[in-house]
Amino acid sequence: MLKHVMTVYGYGYDIDAIAYDVDKSEDEVLGMIQHFKDINSKSGRNYSDELQSLIISRYNSGISVFMIEKELGVGKGVVKRLLLKQGIDVPKTKKQKNKETYAVIDHQDFSICPDCNGRNVKDMNKLYIDEGTDKNSKKKKLKPHSYCFDCGTEWYQKGSETHKVLFHELNDDDED
Ligand SMILES: [Zn+2]
Repeated sequence: MLKHVMTVYGYGYDIDAIAYDVDKSEDEVLGMIQHFKDINSKSGRNYSDELQSLIISRYNSGISVFMIEKELGVGKGVVKRLLLKQGIDVPKTKKQKNKETYAVIDHQDFSICPDCNGRNVKDMNKLYIDEGTDKNSKKKKLKPHSYCFDCGTEWYQKGSETHKVLFHELNDDDED
């Protein structure tokens, strides 16, 4: 059964699909996968060829590095390094679809930084739009959008809310 589980794991089946297939719970399936990893690891991170090709196969079937690391119960970056070593191009930061890239903040001032209260703030609209085109762009009303040169905070108006751009939300592992 382990062989079958690992085969379909390599095909990119979801864990719940594998569990259904072999009539086990998802935890049991994960346990089998992690057991397979353990018996195929010689001293820590030295994986057998079989395990390496399995990981590559799963990644190539569309499962994210992050997910594979969780499934195998290995540390952050282990699978990524393995793939890079094999010459597989892993995107640096893949934005997760349903992850917010901003936070709503209670701050309506676009000349003072909401984070450091600094005034070394630039209007992002002016950084991108040539002054000369201002008269012609009347219909395109620009929304306030500022950037703090002191701490790198960026915030903008969105409807009635002020949104602060988040830079550090990617790859955050909030379940550990
Ligand atoms: Zn600031």
